[in-house]
Amino acid sequence: MYQKNMLAALAAQTGWREWQSFEDDLLQFLLMAIPVVFIYGICIGSFLNVVIIRVPRGESLIKRSSHCMTCGAKIRIIDLIPVFSWLFLKGKCHSCGEKISVRYPIVEALNGILYVADLLIFGVNVNCLLMMIFTSLLICIAFIDWDTMDMYIPMLLMVAALAIPSYFVTYLPLKERIIGIFIISVPFLLIGEISGAYIKKKTGEKVRGIELGDTILMACAGVLLGWKAMIPSAFIGIILAAIFGLIIKKVTGKSKFAFGPYLCMGLLLGAMFGEEITDWYIKMLPQQEHVQYYSAFLMH
Ligand SMILES: [Zn+2]
Repeated sequence: MYQKNMLAALAAQTGWREWQSFEDDLLQFLLMAIPVVFIYGICIGSFLNVVIIRVPRGESLIKRSSHCMTCGAKIRIIDLIPVFSWLFLKGKCHSCGEKISVRYPIVEALNGILYVADLLIFGVNVNCLLMMIFTSLLICIAFIDWDTMDMYIPMLLMVAALAIPSYFVTYLPLKERIIGIFIISVPFLLIGEISGAYIKKKTGEKVRGIELGDTILMACAGVLLGWKAMIPSAFIGIILAAIFGLIIKKVTGKSKFAFGPYLCMGLLLGAMFGEEITDWYIKMLPQQEHVQYYSAFLMH
């Protein structure tokens, strides 16, 4: 029994790509691990709500306990259970009955679900822990950008800083990381500058097609994920932004919206599946000599 559990724990270190051969023991392991990781995820998600609300206002993250936004009533210990308290209170303040935004349980549940996804995809290892931190940072960056149309630079730098431990616990070579910094951020910078100059000439407004924050985000994520993950990330992000941009324009009539949330969704999927997508695409290319040369250059 002990040895079986050890085997399952070993198998779980590899993530879904290597799991086929450990079916039963692994299932047992996952049935234990998934609820634990989910609960851990929604508790961190609860803290992310505080970050998303307070950081743009420049408020302290630790001082003052949480209170109702309307009546100022202190939030009781029993109301602090992520997701479930909101469901239990039916989304209303216990004291004044004012609606509590559905966004709080959504952020909490999202963080919990994505942590479970990270566990299943990356396995039980240090890289998975780094990817969980990356996931939470992306949630904060996305929601703050949605609210304020602005990105908080220290958070972007934290994404880049994850590349240091990541370098020691993954097989992603330095070269792929360095190409990753520039492969999306440079085109984004050029599009931003050119569109900015064009719009200024036409209307006099100081608006860019792609904001500097989005550009820095793609550079910082690039050093963490490498170029192979960045190309699908950017594609997914741009396509999602185009789809939701059209919907937002139709519903609200506004043509200006935050690009960040869609880039964050793209980066999350890119971190999980990006390398596979790029490798698959390179193999699909017609194998002519010059293509082989370039793919050999990029692969090694
Ligand atoms: Zn209240």
